[in-house]
Amino acid sequence: MSAQILDATKATSYLKEYPKKDGLTIKQLIDSANFGGLTYNDFLILPGLINFPSSAVSLETKLTKKISIKSPFVSSPMDTVTEESMAIHMALLGGIGIIHHNCTPEEQAEMVRKVKKYENGFINDPVVIKPDVTVGEVRAMKERLGFTSFPVTENGKVGGKLLGIVTSRDVQFHEDSSSPVSEVMTKDLTVGKQGIELVEGNELLRASKKGKLPIVDSDGNLVSLISRTDLQKNQNYPDASKSFHSKQLLCGAAIGTIEADRERLDKLVEAGLDVVVLDSSNGTSVFQIDMLKWIKNKYPDLQVIAGNVVTREQAAILIEAGADALRIGMGSGSICITQEVMACGRPQGTAVYNVTEFANKFGVPCIADGGIGNIGHITKALALGASTVMMGGLLAGTAETPGDYYYRDGKRLKTYRGMGSIDAMQQTNTNANASTSRYFSESDKVLVAQGVSGAVVDKGSVTKFVPYLFNGLQHSLQDIGVQSLGEMRTKVDNYEIAFEFRTASAQFEGGVHGLHSYEKRLHN
Ligand code: IMP
Repeated sequence: MSAQILDATKATSYLKEYPKKDGLTIKQLIDSANFGGLTYNDFLILPGLINFPSSAVSLETKLTKKISIKSPFVSSPMDTVTEESMAIHMALLGGIGIIHHNCTPEEQAEMVRKVKKYENGFINDPVVIKPDVTVGEVRAMKERLGFTSFPVTENGKVGGKLLGIVTSRDVQFHEDSSSPVSEVMTKDLTVGKQGIELVEGNELLRASKKGKLPIVDSDGNLVSLISRTDLQKNQNYPDASKSFHSKQLLCGAAIGTIEADRERLDKLVEAGLDVVVLDSSNGTSVFQIDMLKWIKNKYPDLQVIAGNVVTREQAAILIEAGADALRIGMGSGSICITQEVMACGRPQGTAVYNVTEFANKFGVPCIADGGIGNIGHITKALALGASTVMMGGLLAGTAETPGDYYYRDGKRLKTYRGMGSIDAMQQTNTNANASTSRYFSESDKVLVAQGVSGAVVDKGSVTKFVPYLFNGLQHSLQDIGVQSLGEMRTKVDNYEIAFEFRTASAQFEGGVHGLHSYEKRLHN
């Protein structure tokens, strides 16, 4: 006799009679990999009900106990990833950048200052010249820098008394190259007063029909510049990460845990730092614990991200010492050879689950650091319990990273290197080297590398790439059937979101296969 056909209109109600929900709970997923750790590629998340547009998905999250940001993206403190340009753009795009410390404390503090002083649309560090610079020199600067207008101040610096502006029109037909610019510059200036809003500046530019609007303080000293061409390119950044009171962009920076780093931190705090990352490959050292306690005592309002950790035992030590967030990962980075060389580390999926499951009970948010290679990895890290992800390799090669592009084999490339690579560790500074201290190698005669130095392909600007990650993540959460990261957290914990283990052949099936050739373009 054939089985009875059930009433189709009651299909979802019948589900309740099934002994088990489809898929695995997060705990079952982790346990299913007990004989080996889990990486992001080893599992998938089962889809849910979509009854909202992806644009309705909120990605707001906590970076630390006291700092919330609109998108869960953090750039790595690496000298080929985050200096001021990356930090400014990550903050504009709703995330945050952590400025590396493989440089002098003064250089690092200056980068922090530039992020804090940044105002969208205002150029705070324009190239400024003295009145005795010659017309010939201005022509050469135009060739070298690609732009043509330079404010002229008494001392040739921002902050000096503004005397005029020299533009290409002023020098173009001037025959004597040795004339000083003071003879040819435009002195009849339209200026904006310090504190002016961007829209007002824009209006002044339009009315004056000029290309540049210098902003001056009450004594006529140059403060910044608004440029008409920049205004046209200017985007609106409604989700920018800003300090609540000052409305300045949020900025993070990394330091080590040796004595000299205390002075370094003083300089960074003076420059306006919001959050410091204690940068160590293994966060559970007495040096880090002492440093954490010292900071919490001296700067109680400064948020401190401690790490790196991969076990709950490590997490407990740093949580007790006062960490405001934890950074998780050892050996998962794309440039990393720590697991190979040190035999220490943990597959990142297992590390993220175990540490976050513990830390979240104490209200300590966690950053999943390393091994993020695509949007799916970001979703999985967040589903496992992380509040944010830290990316090095995924952002490397963008226009906002330090370093110049170069060509090899017809490809436009940029250098991306591990902070534990010999290259990075051999960089000499006036102060202790950040890389050697990160790996406790500052007194070693023979350096033991824990990372490699390589190249990545040009990825364009983060102003396109990060919105691609953002939109992709919204779509991913929509597929899972949740409208926020908080909802995803609750539903994972309640087993309303289920997981599936991925065998090697499932991974093959999930990738492009069976084609003769194809082009993988990730966004327009
Ligand atoms: P990625 O995003 O996979 O490229 O990994 C970046 C992360 O790798 C960084 O945030 C660091 O935690 C880690 N890292 C940076 N340099 C090294 C290294 O030389 N060896 C091991 N790990 C590194």
